[in-house]
Amino acid sequence: MANCLECNQEIRVPSDVIDGEIVTCGDCGTSFELEISEAGIITLRTAESASEDWGE
Ligand SMILES: [Zn+2]
Repeated sequence: MANCLECNQEIRVPSDVIDGEIVTCGDCGTSFELEISEAGIITLRTAESASEDWGE
């Protein structure tokens, strides 16, 4: 389980997720990339900047 960085809503994360998988908050619709440490700790990273901010 992780919390949305935008609205702090709990995001349900399947037990078999892999590092780099994209999850979307069901409440605000923001997408996040999952980063899973070797200890199994899940961190969310905003995924939108990876593809959107290349306009210049
Ligand atoms: Zn959210």
